[in-house]
Amino acid sequence: MIQISTSWLLLIPVMFGIGWLASRWDLRLENRLDERERMQQQRSTFKGLSLLLNEQPDQAIETLVKIAQLDPETIELHFSLGNLFRRRGETERAIRVHQHLANRDDLKSRDRDHAAYELGRDFLRAGLLDRAEASLNRVGVGKYAVPAKESLLEMYQVERDWKKAIIAANELEILQGKSHHTEIAQFHCELAQEALRRKDLPEVEHSIQCAIQAVPNHARALILQGDYLMAMERPAQAIDAWSLIAASHPAYMHLLADRWMLAHAAVNKSDEGLDRLCALLTTQASGELLDIVHKQVMKIRGPQAANVMLADVMQHSPSLSALSKLAETRLALEEGSANPERLSELQSILLLLRQRTTSLARYTCGNCGFRARRFYWQCPGCNHWEAYSPRRSEGVAPSGPSM
Ligand SMILES: [Zn+2]
Repeated sequence: MIQISTSWLLLIPVMFGIGWLASRWDLRLENRLDERERMQQQRSTFKGLSLLLNEQPDQAIETLVKIAQLDPETIELHFSLGNLFRRRGETERAIRVHQHLANRDDLKSRDRDHAAYELGRDFLRAGLLDRAEASLNRVGVGKYAVPAKESLLEMYQVERDWKKAIIAANELEILQGKSHHTEIAQFHCELAQEALRRKDLPEVEHSIQCAIQAVPNHARALILQGDYLMAMERPAQAIDAWSLIAASHPAYMHLLADRWMLAHAAVNKSDEGLDRLCALLTTQASGELLDIVHKQVMKIRGPQAANVMLADVMQHSPSLSALSKLAETRLALEEGSANPERLSELQSILLLLRQRTTSLARYTCGNCGFRARRFYWQCPGCNHWEAYSPRRSEGVAPSGPSM
């Protein structure tokens, strides 16, 4: 019995040894399997990327979804996948991916902010503006604070919620340390314009003052101030406000020239008003201002005076629109004559010139090059404020028209 127990005792360390060796073998096997799985994932990721690079997004998404399912911890991959869905217009799938990330409690605050930001962009893309606002407002201070605020600012402008846009722009100024005064002044002007439409004059006055506070001597705010004074039936003061535009921003005078003449008519000073507009033509002869001045000269002083005025303009600032107005004036002068050949010749010239000026006359955005028939304070192409030159171009060299 004693001999058997001794041999058993001897076996114990041997068994331990075998057990240890087996566990090491098992560990190595496990490591090898892990390594093989990692290699497999790497190969799949590379395959996904290569499909993306080869512009095969459908197959790329399929491959990337498989990897994301195999390893839910691959946060960056989830972000890439969500953004890929959004870019392809599959917003529902993008929302699902980003929502899953945003709801995870184990993420670092930076990744949670990233997920809230991306989710906000998805909702914006889907047109779910309330949910976009809520998600973007969840983004904390950090790397994603500025892009989230920029997205909110963009959204408020689309919604024409100018009050919220002003708050967002002010917050963005603090976050970026960069001025957004031009936009803020324009947002106040939009509020003033809306209040003017609903005849809420105290609100108009308040918004104009805020705009001027943001940008002193702001062109649009001064134009609106004249409109406000006209609404208050104070034309003499409106003329004073608009005189500041004539002095500091003459290129914008075409935006108010019609109302300028109405204000002068209201104080029986139409001639004086017209003289001041004519004087501006020496430096601002192109575009809409010339159209308005020509129309007023024809109405108040007749075609003979318009002919003299246009001959002068053609001397110092020749353009297609000036030539077109000259042909129109000559036709009016000839209309009483008994020369039908001359009349028909002038009518043909006028028709050609009108077609040409209408097709060429455009305002151009200095930021994106978008061309438009009418003047915009905010470019419809790139949404930049005050990017449009107030001068309409005719697409020809200022040295003179070529026929
Ligand atoms: Zn633009």
